[in-house]
Amino acid sequence: MQAFPGPRQSALVTRTTLVAVVGPPGAGKSTVAAGLAGDAGAPVFRLRETIRARPELLAGLPPSTDPLGWVGLEAVRRVLHVTLVEDRFGFGSPAVLLDNFPGTADQLELLANTAEATAAQVALLELCADARTVAARVAQRRVCHACRSDSHAPAVPAANDPDRCGSCRTPLARRDTDVPHLHALRSARYAANQPEIAERAAERGIPHLSVNADAATSEVRRAAHHALHRLTDPAEHPGSRP
Ligand SMILES: [Zn+2]
Repeated sequence: MQAFPGPRQSALVTRTTLVAVVGPPGAGKSTVAAGLAGDAGAPVFRLRETIRARPELLAGLPPSTDPLGWVGLEAVRRVLHVTLVEDRFGFGSPAVLLDNFPGTADQLELLANTAEATAAQVALLELCADARTVAARVAQRRVCHACRSDSHAPAVPAANDPDRCGSCRTPLARRDTDVPHLHALRSARYAANQPEIAERAAERGIPHLSVNADAATSEVRRAAHHALHRLTDPAEHPGSRP
């Protein structure tokens, strides 16, 4: 005998929520996104990775002159259109996690407009962390350039050697963008853009939840999981546990 999916169940699985995971550099966005992806089976979108994989999307556009390598709005528009509208990336799963995107209110606007064309909804999951937390995380975090396609993904060190990758034993490295002057620039940019992102989200009726990222990693992950649950299921009672 086969299980019979009732009408209520089929109505709940149709809508994908694009969950923007934002926060200051060093708040742990990539770690949280990877954790949520594992827990919830949600695919992760990373703007930079997509551009690296498909440079042809930027054909005809002037190269970025931004010190942090940020691309212009037209480049973002093209990537979002191809990823979400043409490829329907992640559609069919309840959530798609956007790791460290959008970076500006105008990027959020583009995301919301693109989502409208696909009947997906957009939500904002913000990690809040104070300067001390961020400084400590940035000082500690390491990446593996050998076995990870994503040079930003946090590496898991070997159990018996914290300076080597737990998967391939290559010596771990700092992230290229964690050198102090670039970190300061990214922090300043986030601080400048965050209020406008929050304001635009409110204007567009985009649900916005914040998670305190100063807590221990396991606690942050649990809180983020709970927030994701609330953001992707509006019928969920806000007070209930995931
Ligand atoms: Zn490795």
